[in-house]
Amino acid sequence: MTISYPTISRSLRTFSDGRWRQHRTEWPGGARAAVVIAIDFDGPSHDLTQGFPPLGSHSTGRYSGRRGVPRHLDMLSRLGIPATFFVPGYDAECYPQVIRNIAAAGHEIGAHGYLHERTLFEPQEEERRLRLTHEILGNMTGSPPVGWRSPSGQKTYTTLKVLHQLGYLYDASDKDFDMPYMLDLGHGRSLVEVPNNTYSLDDHPWFHYSMTPVSEVLEVWKREFDSIYAERGFFFLSVHPRSGWGSGSPSRTAAIESLVRYMQAHEGVTFMTCAEMCNVVRACPQAFEEMRT
Ligand SMILES: [Zn+2]
Repeated sequence: MTISYPTISRSLRTFSDGRWRQHRTEWPGGARAAVVIAIDFDGPSHDLTQGFPPLGSHSTGRYSGRRGVPRHLDMLSRLGIPATFFVPGYDAECYPQVIRNIAAAGHEIGAHGYLHERTLFEPQEEERRLRLTHEILGNMTGSPPVGWRSPSGQKTYTTLKVLHQLGYLYDASDKDFDMPYMLDLGHGRSLVEVPNNTYSLDDHPWFHYSMTPVSEVLEVWKREFDSIYAERGFFFLSVHPRSGWGSGSPSRTAAIESLVRYMQAHEGVTFMTCAEMCNVVRACPQAFEEMRT
């Protein structure tokens, strides 16, 4: 079936600081749209941090390590695409072989808190937790993470400062733009921000709050892609391999696979990890927005 796109713009155009800014007209390799799939591990840490032993109905996080992540790895292998797995340090300690399998398959591993923290801490404690997970993941895979995503969506100015000190290159927590952009931390320091849309391009709200059937979620994600493809934009999907509200189960993993095959059927769609997207921005920062923290 041929789909026509009546309003194809040459590039994404945004208005800021009193002027229009024309963003890049093509992605690496001349691609028309860029896609990143982020898989947030969210294992038993997600339940423990809320005070629940990961048992009974609170064992859905354990599904990530036992079935969800292996199933997603098989899916990614069939599709032949890379992904970024954001992993809490505690979950890595629970499932070290799973973490090594992710790395061995060539996917990126980013940091995602230690115990999937839902609260903000005093600066010293926040720094201790950031360093702890950084060391756990680096020691386990042989290469320290370069990307971080906030568990629960919270971060502070301490977060950015410590991430920069530890050598991180990007953050993937904010929800304030359609495209990645440069984050100026002052004093010549910078990070790349890779923002996400957790209210549409994410499984959690659909399966947790609205209990939307997976077939409808798949259609929403396809329509989101259609719009982004028409703008030559950036499609950033975040999923969780848990059972319960996650996408680890067979039918929900199959929906992600269907979505990727739909996107792959379009001409000029490039798939990359978050770190690779970060490198695209760093290689040509003038083509992207810049924002001060
Ligand atoms: Zn998470």
